[in-house]
Order: sequence, then C-alpha cells, then structure tokens
Amino acid sequence: MAVEMPSKVPANQPRVRFGGVQTPRGYLFELTGGRLCLDLANTLDERATDHPRELLRGYKDLVDWAVQARALSSAEGQRLRRHAAAHPSLAARALGRTTATREVLFAIFSAAARRKAVPAGLLDALSELSAQAFARRRLENAPGGSFEWKWEFSERPDLDSPLWAAVASAVDLLTSPGVDRVRQCEGDGCAWLFIDTSKNGSRRWCDMSVCGNRAKARRHRGRPRNPPPPTRRHRALLGPQRD
Ligand SMILES: [Zn+2]
Repeated sequence: MAVEMPSKVPANQPRVRFGGVQTPRGYLFELTGGRLCLDLANTLDERATDHPRELLRGYKDLVDWAVQARALSSAEGQRLRRHAAAHPSLAARALGRTTATREVLFAIFSAAARRKAVPAGLLDALSELSAQAFARRRLENAPGGSFEWKWEFSERPDLDSPLWAAVASAVDLLTSPGVDRVRQCEGDGCAWLFIDTSKNGSRRWCDMSVCGNRAKARRHRGRPRNPPPPTRRHRALLGPQRD
C-alpha cells in the first residue's frame, strides 16, 4: 500500500519504499500486511524477540498510522490530534484500548496463519469490538446509484475511531476465503502478518527487501544469526551488505 513520503529525506538517510523510518514529521510506517487489521497487528516490531519495539508510542503515532494506512482521512486525523492534545488522559486510555485490540488481532491471525484453532475467548473479544465499531457505521448513497458504508465522524471526534476500520477489516478477513492466505513472516524475530498474494502461495517474508534479504545474506555468507539491531528495518533497507 502506498504511503505519502516525506517531502524531504535527509541526505544521510536512504529513500525507502515502505517506511520503517523516523522522519522529521513522525514515524513512517511499513504497511506490508495487505489488510488494515494486519498492518495494525504489525505495529509491534521485532515481536518474536525478547525486546519487541513499540511503534505506537503515543496517541499521535496512532493517528499517523491510521492516516498513512487510509483508515482516516488527513482532515479526520487533524481533528483527532487536536482533540487528543486537549484530552491527554483520554487519549492515553484510547491508545491502551488500541494496543489491547491489536494483541487480540495478532493472536487471532497468528493462529489462523499457523492453521491452529482460534480460542473462543478471542473470537468473543472480536465480536464485542465489532459491535462497538459497527454501531458507528452508516449506510449512505454513493455515486452511480450504489451504496456504501461510512464511518461517523462528529465535530467532537471519538478517540477510538482509528480502531473502527481495523476491526471491520478483521471481521471481513476472518469470514472470507482470504483468511487461508494469511501468513506469518519467517524472518528472525519478526512474526509480522501479511496476505500472501503470490501465485503458488509460497511467500515467506513480510517484505523481501527486509526479512528476505537478511535471510538470503545469512545463508550466502554462512554467518551466525545476530540479534536484530534497534533500527532493523531501516538498516535492512540499506542493503544486505550492511547487515
Ligand atoms: Zn518480516
């Protein structure tokens, strides 16, 4: 999924395709999941290590993610940022609900990717979340005589609104044949989730240019595995020679 690139990339930083880098305007997220719910699950980096890296470090990061992932428009994002700045403790609680929901989504789709049964408690949790999210959806007329779902956004924005579209995306994916295509990255310590759109269903990496290249470089050189550096994705995008 394309994301808006920063207008100026500092000269000492590489231009990256998918993000995974801090820019002067905020964090540029890697959106390689192929579905909104998986991209939200992937906001905890280096998940399968003993030093996972939180990418949603504040409510502003959550809004940045939602706008980059097209869960919110830029205008909706701006309204939410202003509202969050005026109500910091409410924003912190909303961020907590989002990261808790993220973990429910990760557990569900990680189980699905491994062809394991999803515990009923997780499905109950997603059912409750979807009831809250869908209560904010309205059917509207669309061009050409068709109809579409729209999310309600009032002047006093709901701090949980970045979650709504991700929860709807999770329900859609879980109840569609596409759930068979959910995969978990085999990269060292990665565990990111993605939709495998390859013809033969054999994609192994969240991003070939990150986890794939690192694995290839290791195999090629026969080097022992190193723990991933703090800015793993950024460095990996510099190329395997720097690995
Ligand atoms: Zn990966």
